[in-house]
Amino acid sequence: MAKIGINIATGSLQQSEMIVGIDLGTTNSLVAIIHPESKNPVALKEHNSSSLVPSVIHFDAWGNAEVGETAKTYLETDTQNTIFSAKRLMGKNYNDIKEHASFFTYKVIDDDTDRLVKVQVGEKFYSPIELSSFILKELKARAEHILKTPVTKAVITVPAYFNDAQRQATRDAGKLAGLDVLRIVNEPTAAALAYGLGLHKEEDKTVAVYDLGGGTFDISILKISNGIFEVLSTNGDTYLGGDDFDRAIVQYWMQEFGITQDELKANKELAQGLRLRAEEAKKHLSNSDTFSVEWNGDTLAISKATFESLIQPLLDKTLQCCKQSLQDAKLNAADIDTVVMVGGSTRVPAVKNAVSNFFGKPVHDEVNPDEVVALGAAVQADILAGNNKEFLLLDITPLSLGIETMGGLMDVLIPRNSKIPTKVGRQYTTQKDGQSAMRISVYQGERDLVKDNRKLAEFNLTGIPGMPAGLPKVEVSFLINADGILVVKAKELRSGVEQSIEVKPQYGLTDEEVEQMLMDSITHAKDDIATRALVEARTEGEQILEVTEKFLTKNSSIIAPEEMITTAQAMQALQLALTMEDKDLIHKKVEELNEITRPFAERAMDAAVSGALKGKTI
Ligand code: ADP
Ligand code: MG
Repeated sequence: MAKIGINIATGSLQQSEMIVGIDLGTTNSLVAIIHPESKNPVALKEHNSSSLVPSVIHFDAWGNAEVGETAKTYLETDTQNTIFSAKRLMGKNYNDIKEHASFFTYKVIDDDTDRLVKVQVGEKFYSPIELSSFILKELKARAEHILKTPVTKAVITVPAYFNDAQRQATRDAGKLAGLDVLRIVNEPTAAALAYGLGLHKEEDKTVAVYDLGGGTFDISILKISNGIFEVLSTNGDTYLGGDDFDRAIVQYWMQEFGITQDELKANKELAQGLRLRAEEAKKHLSNSDTFSVEWNGDTLAISKATFESLIQPLLDKTLQCCKQSLQDAKLNAADIDTVVMVGGSTRVPAVKNAVSNFFGKPVHDEVNPDEVVALGAAVQADILAGNNKEFLLLDITPLSLGIETMGGLMDVLIPRNSKIPTKVGRQYTTQKDGQSAMRISVYQGERDLVKDNRKLAEFNLTGIPGMPAGLPKVEVSFLINADGILVVKAKELRSGVEQSIEVKPQYGLTDEEVEQMLMDSITHAKDDIATRALVEARTEGEQILEVTEKFLTKNSSIIAPEEMITTAQAMQALQLALTMEDKDLIHKKVEELNEITRPFAERAMDAAVSGALKGKTI
């Protein structure tokens, strides 16, 4: 139920709890709300400043984080301490981003493993969740300053292609920033909502959402019927956007003035100056035919025609993606009823023309393309607040459901506010060699440690055939049927052994108790996420110690005695760190141990290969 309060200053009625919509973008982020009087979505901004907050975080020498426009000025001059594009790292492991390692000018821990990435700034390690939470905190603070009321509830948007882990990471970032994330909404869906699409029940439409931002391009084909949005297909290029337009202009000027790539690399002021002016030129050319500016005694100039020819290959690439997404949705351009333009880069007239030509119809660009996603998130927030009665809200789960994993952590399978009926499955594996049973403990609640949540059920999956640790594949599935009954099933996929149990999650919980559990999760979010990070760091540390131990016993012949000593010392140091409460220290010791053992692994590999070759010649 929405609570109503009275604004003392104006005497008008206002909702005491505003739910905000947040576009957490790769390049820019912003907050929007439904204006209480006009009932229209509006982006929040301070007087005479932009609604957009650059998604950039700069850490000063003391480790204090600053987010936004000021942080952006350090992009070229203080690369190690300036984090951009944190969104690209959400829910990713080291292998996922390896191919684009050079893109990140700050230190992404580059261990060749499948653990989640971390960013190192000075002596500290940050997860992408923590980094995103800095941005969300800034947005929350701005919104509170502008609205002059606490903001604790939000709808946050994510790209349609985000997987479970990335969505959960986004929720966690919100929680860490002190926000109760009521719903994660797909960016293209939000954009469509901002245009009022899908708000009438009888409506039946196929919509293409073309989103060209700063560093990414997404095309999504949506089917809207009976107020339900279905993503038919998505396509795009996660490394193509307006920044590439800027780079094309920089290169054009470099050629003109005979500046080489090496000179640019060596001179950060030059690189920064050119990039800033290139972006300025690009934006200017969205409304004029020529651009020129005096800089360091030279004139930097470019015409619209030149700019358009520079970006033509990039536009062609995006259209190729559009073609593919139509094909995947089994549709023709003519089947698309509405085309919606999203992202700051669609302000470029050549982009609009190209897309309009491709789909053979005028495109929708009336709503500010860099605000449209946040505005749609605000529309969704308003529906959740119950202010838009016409819009049907499907039945949802009030609290998250999950199971206990290593170290007593809660692993959420069905996040709160999921539509029911719903079904989710996730794979787990064993910790110990030859482990034959696995305990599945089912919990409900929003806290990170299961001991703070409510236990619903527990059972043992037995009869797992003896296998080395990590080999069994145990799929745990949660199914909530239309009556709200949860069926939990665990199945070892290699052997087929399975076990299941039925629970009624809401049984015995009053509305007040649900509310209390939610409030607790927000009050304790900071501690919870810190504990989770510590537990994860410890688990990682323990695993590395175990693996190293095994490796040393097996390969002692290829390791020199002095190497054995340094390794043992590094292991001891890690062992000691594990007993302390400092995740950064654990990460540091893990790094140091890895640093020492990395060459051993290569040696072992060479030995194995030469051994195999020897085998052949005999
Ligand atoms: P994201 O969704 O990636 O966070 P945005 O939608 O905010 O990003 O788009 C940012 C990009 O839009 C930047 O590359 C910026 O230079 C570009 N942009 C903003 N305004 C204009 C304009 N008037 N003309 C051309 N490009 C623009
Ligand atoms: Mg965007």
